[in-house]
Amino acid sequence: MDKIDKIKKHSVLIVDDANANITALTDILKSGYTIYMAKNGQKAVQLAEEFSPDIILLDIVMPEMDGYEIITALKNSEKSKDIPVIFITSLSDSGNEEKGLELGAADYITKPFSPAIVRFRVGNQIRILELIRNNERLSLEDQLTGLPNRRCFDRQIDREWKRALREKTFLSVLLMDIDKFKNYNDTYGHQQGDAAIQSFAKTLDRTLKRPGDFSARWGGEEFIALLANTELKNALDIAEQIRRNTENTEVPCSDGFITKLTVSIGVNTYRPGDNNTIDSLISGADTALYTAKNKGRNMVCSFL
Ligand code: GH3
Ligand code: MG
Ligand code: MG
Repeated sequence: MDKIDKIKKHSVLIVDDANANITALTDILKSGYTIYMAKNGQKAVQLAEEFSPDIILLDIVMPEMDGYEIITALKNSEKSKDIPVIFITSLSDSGNEEKGLELGAADYITKPFSPAIVRFRVGNQIRILELIRNNERLSLEDQLTGLPNRRCFDRQIDREWKRALREKTFLSVLLMDIDKFKNYNDTYGHQQGDAAIQSFAKTLDRTLKRPGDFSARWGGEEFIALLANTELKNALDIAEQIRRNTENTEVPCSDGFITKLTVSIGVNTYRPGDNNTIDSLISGADTALYTAKNKGRNMVCSFL
């Protein structure tokens, strides 16, 4: 398949009660976008929630719900509140335009519209959208390893904690700290230290294979993993696999020299409930990690 074909097209939801307008807008945009269409407000809200289009083009004057009511419904829904809405309307006075923008519209185009202006203005919103998405992605990713960062982990554990609370399942945390890493840096240099951190991240990533596993860089040479729906015994097994894979992984230096790392891991498991918190789950894993370090490193310890 051609590379271009693999790039997912952005999508536009066109909301208008008149077929002629839907057809005209579809003709303008169909070569560059996936098009969804709705002829009334109820359908528009339903499609917006179901398909999460990248942009919504919204008429104002419509029977039943008008465009203002529709944008209000869209902004009140968690699933559609961030989708940019461009009004496209015959109401050309500044009062309506002000009202549309005040209700949260990203832009306002008046009919009769120029096809080129519609394309440019939709394109502008797509560019803004991509900047926001890219920013969001960068703010959740650790630059050195490409793993999720601590901020991303905080969000994930929040979601998984709530889910485990609802489903009454176990949640396990592994806190990992590379052993004697200051020595490693002092011996091989900081750049090689960075390469070793990247190597450990890969080991972690290839060891945690289940969809419910989530790992992140906690900071420095410390990493954290969250294992959903996992009891202590299984969490200890997985931690042991990480420990062993780390010990057995060769980290080459640029001069052809082979180096090795070891890691200490603290494990803690809770069934979320009234008597425990996310903080205590993590601090339990931290205490267990401290025990592993004290007992001689390259070791897995549990809090319980
Ligand atoms: P321990 O076995 O007790 O964990 O000893 P340690 O030397 O690993 O622990 P310590 O916390 O004293 O040192 C951690 C070192 O990790 C010091 C710091 O310079 C290094 N480090 C932290 N982040 C990075 C990084 O991003 N790149 C490199 N190269 N080194 C890092
Ligand atoms: Mg440390
Ligand atoms: Mg360390």
